Amino acid sequence: RLSRAQTQAFEPAVTRDGVEIVVGATIGSVEDARRAAENGADLAGLVRTEFLFLDRPTPPTVDEQAAIYQAIAETLGDRQLTIRTLDIGGDKSLPYVPQLLEANPFLGTRGLRYGLTFPTLLSDQLVAIAQTALTHRVNVMFPMVATVAEVVAARKLLDWAVARCGGNPQIGVGVMVEVPAAALRAATLARYVDFVSIGTNDLTQYTLAAERGNAAVAHLSDNLDPAVLQLVKATCDGFHERKVAVCGELAVDDTAVPLLCALGVRAFTVRPTHIPLTKAAVRQTHLATAKDWLLDCVDMTDGGAVRARLDIFQSLV
Ligand code: PEP
Ligand code: MG
Repeated sequence: RLSRAQTQAFEPAVTRDGVEIVVGATIGSVEDARRAAENGADLAGLVRTEFLFLDRPTPPTVDEQAAIYQAIAETLGDRQLTIRTLDIGGDKSLPYVPQLLEANPFLGTRGLRYGLTFPTLLSDQLVAIAQTALTHRVNVMFPMVATVAEVVAARKLLDWAVARCGGNPQIGVGVMVEVPAAALRAATLARYVDFVSIGTNDLTQYTLAAERGNAAVAHLSDNLDPAVLQLVKATCDGFHERKVAVCGELAVDDTAVPLLCALGVRAFTVRPTHIPLTKAAVRQTHLATAKDWLLDCVDMTDGGAVRARLDIFQSLV
């Protein structure tokens, strides 16, 4: 027997006062795509592609990549998928690419910067994505963007790839908001991209200058820190007429759903098995009440105070 949340997982998630919130899946394999479909994902909001590039002696060919993207797309049926280009650098390196000697790799050649530094890797990937977009609803999303110039350079490579894919695909272009600069410049970025997704893991790391996974600074890397919330709000304000998504760990914190909606978030990207839970949290939310009760969280002393307010709010609904 399916629980009520599971049966309702295939319906759209609408707040008690009638605002539809998109709940999509984070995917890192064909298997994940199957789980996303089974759990009622509205779409795939983040397809991580590092798995195609890591743990192998040579880069994947365009055909190899296209075959995997096609398989993921077919498993998702008619759901839209947003493929993120490779996010290497930081703690990840590739044996077939010259090693970079950097004192601070997380502040160095990572994400889109890595793709622009080794453009053959990125442009091959973009050709494979463009080929997939000939037959499926595909968006492309660039990770760790800091400046408009990077977006312009990435879009040029994409145009080059589209010209080589053997057709004329329509591809939405987006960026991850993971660097405070991108959140602060959201209104300007909105002129250069179709959509954004806030990567709360990296946005927290870069806002608090506290490395992900470093236990010594774990107390600082709180994704409910008001500084992070202010940047979430700045992103939503900058993109005001368009749906802003959140992904990363904050997106699977169900008590934070009303707060994120109040700040302007209109889409959540979560691991496949979490989709029914996020949809249930959206359906419990009354957006206007959440705005009344939660918008001052952005000015609270710290994440602990925010959490206390969210607990009170949840006990009231
Ligand atoms: C994030 O940074 O929140 C994110 C979703 O990207 P990743 O975890 O792959 O860095
Ligand atoms: Mg990230």
